Amino acid sequence: MVNEFVYCPRLSFLEWVQGEWDDNLDTIEGRWVHRRVDKEPATDVPAPPDDEASSADGGDAEALALTARSVLLSSDRLGAIARIDLLEAEGREATPVEYKRGAVPDIPNRAWDPERVQLCLQGLILRDNGYSCAAGVLYFAESKTRVKVAFDESLIEMTQDAVQGTRAMAEGGRLPPPLRDSPKCVRCSLSGICLPDETRAWSGEPPDEVRRLVPARPDALPVYVQAQGGTIGKRGDALHVTVPDEPPVSVRLLDASALSVFGNVQLTTQAMRAVCDEGIPVTFHSSTGWLVGVLNGGLGHKNVLLRVRQHAVAGATEASLEIARRMAEGKILNQRTLLRRNHAAPDRRLLATMAMHARQTRGARAVDQLMGIEGMAARLYFSALPQLLKGAGAWASQRFAEGGRNRRPPKDEVNAVLSFVYALLVRDCNLAAAVVGFDPYVGFLHAPHYGRPSLALDLAEEFRPLVGDSVTLNVFNQGEVVEKDFVRRARGVALSPTGRRAVISAYERRMNQTVTHPMFGYVVSYRRVVELQARLLRAVLMGEAEHYRAFTTR
Ligand code: SF4
Repeated sequence: MVNEFVYCPRLSFLEWVQGEWDDNLDTIEGRWVHRRVDKEPATDVPAPPDDEASSADGGDAEALALTARSVLLSSDRLGAIARIDLLEAEGREATPVEYKRGAVPDIPNRAWDPERVQLCLQGLILRDNGYSCAAGVLYFAESKTRVKVAFDESLIEMTQDAVQGTRAMAEGGRLPPPLRDSPKCVRCSLSGICLPDETRAWSGEPPDEVRRLVPARPDALPVYVQAQGGTIGKRGDALHVTVPDEPPVSVRLLDASALSVFGNVQLTTQAMRAVCDEGIPVTFHSSTGWLVGVLNGGLGHKNVLLRVRQHAVAGATEASLEIARRMAEGKILNQRTLLRRNHAAPDRRLLATMAMHARQTRGARAVDQLMGIEGMAARLYFSALPQLLKGAGAWASQRFAEGGRNRRPPKDEVNAVLSFVYALLVRDCNLAAAVVGFDPYVGFLHAPHYGRPSLALDLAEEFRPLVGDSVTLNVFNQGEVVEKDFVRRARGVALSPTGRRAVISAYERRMNQTVTHPMFGYVVSYRRVVELQARLLRAVLMGEAEHYRAFTTR
């Protein structure tokens, strides 16, 4: 915690106060270097030999030599605990050895300050436990080099300041601001959670350039299992899906960001344990896509400060209403953009009225009023949407135009696809909210209702036209779903398994599609944008950004 504080106070707070963690190459290599000491149970530091024992031994240093790994020790004076990778002692003289990945850095001290401070703190704690300790050793695994670090006055002062600073930061309970344009952020494993440049931009102090410090698209992808009667088990490091009369399919746990199970599919205890161990969330859906439950690996997010703030703000404050206004406005603007872009001859009056409704959201005095404005805009929007079904999708236009937007159950094919895609979107918003540390059930635009993921619904609003409606138009207009991909039931219409597969595939393509972020100027996938919006909302609630800004395209 103290060495992270010296590297960056925000990193220390995120990791140790908020319980955030993410791996990058450096942290994985660091774990590899520490694999031996990390495996060994922490041992208490042995008491140093007293002077009498030493002289009775005739001062034989050999007899009193000691080497111990993974030594846990503490100091009440400093209020600090340390785990020493390797302790070498001769008589009362002790030397802590800290293992480091990489080679010796080519800088004057041959070691970076965070590492020197970490080692010095171990030395000070050893002193408080009766040893004398004048220096420590950093062992660089790549170059197999020992670098001696002397605990001089200036390093001791820096270490004591760092201990005090870390304690004050943790007790203050406030996330420190990000570093400005710092090269440290490029190697920081938490850059995707911290979002240093984005946070500065949201706060109104934009950096020279907003760097995209994480890949444009996540490496792992969601896994869908919708074959009725299927079983998901575990085989080695993979999920193993078996379906009667079909060849089995395996997906490496490493490649799965989430597992979505539709309808009658079994999940074995071993598979459940594996996804929990790997922190892979599982969403359970009805066969029509409705989200019915979530299994959250890793026992949930530890950022309780954010949830406390979310509950304090949601529903009852002007701040809550302002967030809701921005979400509703963003949705209407994106609906309008979709009509304007996709219609051969868009109705100018309708577009002007939608623009007016978007502006009206800014003056709404209550969420009910906001919902009324949003409802008026939605009626206009869905009245024009059938005209965008053309080419291979023209067959579905008439039935949709007759019934308008309807659900539970959908009465026509277009509504069936819209409902299914919206369910996938709400699932992804639910997962993004949980990853950031929110309670997905407490929203700002959507009032709390038993079992309703109100915050996930809030976050989904601006993406309904951008993702949900865009995917729906595409699957019809490109002929990816046709009439035989639907089943008609007494009360409504639902996608068949082949229809669902086609829609899931189109949805994933859209979520992986990249877009230039209008504020940051870098290219990023829609899936990342959903997470960015959830992190922006966190920044708003924690006082790092003034306003929520919906993601809108032109
Ligand atoms: S990304 Fe930069 S500012 Fe953020 S925690 Fe890491 S080092 Fe600190």
